[in-house]
Amino acid sequence: MKKLGFGMMRLPLLDREDPKSVDMEQVCQMVDTFLSRGFTYFDTAYMYHGFQSENVVREALVKRHPRDSFLLASKLPSMFLKEEGDQERIFAEQLEKCGVDYFDYYLIHNLGTENYAKAERFGSFAFVSELKRQGKVRKMGFSFHDSAEVLDQILTEHPEVDFVQIQLNYLDWESDTVQSRLCHEVCLKHGKPIIVMEPVKGGTLAKIPGRVTDLLSSQHPDWSVPSWAIRFAASCENVFMVLSGMSNMEQLMDNLSYMSDFAPLTDRENAVLKDAARMILEDIAVACTSCRYCVDGCPKKIEIPQYFTLYNRAKQAEEAEMGELKVAYSELAKSYGKASDCIACGQCVRACPQHIRIVAALREVAKTFE
Ligand code: SF4
Ligand code: SF4
Repeated sequence: MKKLGFGMMRLPLLDREDPKSVDMEQVCQMVDTFLSRGFTYFDTAYMYHGFQSENVVREALVKRHPRDSFLLASKLPSMFLKEEGDQERIFAEQLEKCGVDYFDYYLIHNLGTENYAKAERFGSFAFVSELKRQGKVRKMGFSFHDSAEVLDQILTEHPEVDFVQIQLNYLDWESDTVQSRLCHEVCLKHGKPIIVMEPVKGGTLAKIPGRVTDLLSSQHPDWSVPSWAIRFAASCENVFMVLSGMSNMEQLMDNLSYMSDFAPLTDRENAVLKDAARMILEDIAVACTSCRYCVDGCPKKIEIPQYFTLYNRAKQAEEAEMGELKVAYSELAKSYGKASDCIACGQCVRACPQHIRIVAALREVAKTFE
C-alpha cells in the first residue's frame, strides 16, 4: 500500500467562506488521478466540511469507482455523543452518506482525556469491536490529540485496537503540547501501526518563513516546502499512512510525484529539518492548524482560525502589509464576532487539539487589529 492518504477535510471550495461549497468537479478529477496513480486510501469524518465530506466521498469516489479499488476510513464522532443510541444512529447515517456497507478503517474520533472518558461511558470500543465482528468495519483505531501519557493509558486499556492515528510533524516533534516524538514512541512500545494526520500542521509547514525556505531549497531545490513535512512523517518507523488534506490539483500532483516511489529521509535531511523547526518556532505566534474544531460552538461566532492566520502574518509583516491585514480583519469582523467579543467561556479551549490558549491569544489579536 502506498503511504499517502487523501484527507477529505480541506477540499477545494467554490466559495472560500462556505466549507460546504465543495468544488465537486475538481474533487472528481483529483480522486480519479489519485486512484490512477495507484494510491487507494481516503479519509473522511462525520463533520468535515460542515457535515458534507461523507456525501462528497459518495459522489466523487464510491459511485464512480469499484468498492474494492479503494480503502475508506471514517470516524465515530466522540464529541457528538450525547445519549444512548447515538453511536448506532450516527454509524448507520455514515454508511448511508458514504454509500457503502462497510468501512475499511473506522476510528473513534479525537480522543484525549475528555473524549476518552466519554467514549468509555458510551462503550465506544466495544461498539466498534462489534462492528468489526459483523464485518461492517475492517480495522478499528482512534485518532488522538493529547499527551503521550494519556495515549499510553488508552493503549494499555484497549490493546484490541488495530492502529492509531496521531499528529506527527517535524515542528511538533519536541513540543510540550502535541508531543509528536513521545506519542510516536508510545505507539512503538505498544506495537501499533501508525497513521499520521496533520503532517503539514494544517498548512503551517507549507508557508514557512523565507529564511527557512532558503535553507530547505539549498538542500534540494526541486523539493517543494510541504513535501519535506510529508516525507518526514512517512519516514518515521511504523508509519504506514500519511494523510494530506489536498486542496487543489497542484498539491495533489506534487504529493504524488514523490510519494509514488517514496524514499525515506536521510540522517542529514532530518538534521536540516531540526534546524528548520527551531527557526520556524522563533517566528510563529499562534500554532493554529485551522482545523476549525473550535468554531461551531463559539457563542460569539468568532472566526478564531482566520484571525490567527492574520495575526501570524501580522507578526512577520512589513509596515506596508499591515494596512492590508487590518482591512482583511475588518471585513471578517463585519460577518463574525470580533476578537474582543470573546467572553472567555472556554468552549474553544476544550475543543482545540493543539491546546492553544485561545482566549489569551484572541486578546493579542484584538490589540493588534482593533
Ligand atoms: S472562549 Fe471566546 S472564542 Fe472561545 S468559544 Fe468562548 S467566546 Fe468563543
Ligand atoms: S484554534 Fe485550535 S481548534 Fe481552533 S482552528 Fe486553530 S487549531 Fe483548530
